[in-house]
Amino acid sequence: MYEPVQTCKHCGATLTLDDLRQPNCGYCGTVFPHQAMAAQHAQVVGQVLRQMHQAQMHQAQMYLAQSHAQLANSREQRLHRTFWKIVRIVVMTILAPFFIFALILLKHCLVTG
Ligand SMILES: [Zn+2]
Repeated sequence: MYEPVQTCKHCGATLTLDDLRQPNCGYCGTVFPHQAMAAQHAQVVGQVLRQMHQAQMHQAQMYLAQSHAQLANSREQRLHRTFWKIVRIVVMTILAPFFIFALILLKHCLVTG
């Protein structure tokens, strides 16, 4: 169907474009160099893509871990602030009556003194 465009470098058979689409020579079975090269290229491309994917996954994991740490950090800080606010409120409410009582006592002592 196709005209011969090349001869096999191993057995010398005339090859058509259809023959050249096969991975190897239909007459002697020798792997065509362009097919071998294409397979090698595909392998290299696949390897590069895999490495890129791994690098991206690693980056994504790093980013996730970082944002998790930041989130935990800010949550801890918020918790800390809330804790000390509560401590302050509790201390003030406990101390305030004592303070007022002390003032009243002091005034009483000064008056009756
Ligand atoms: Zn051949």
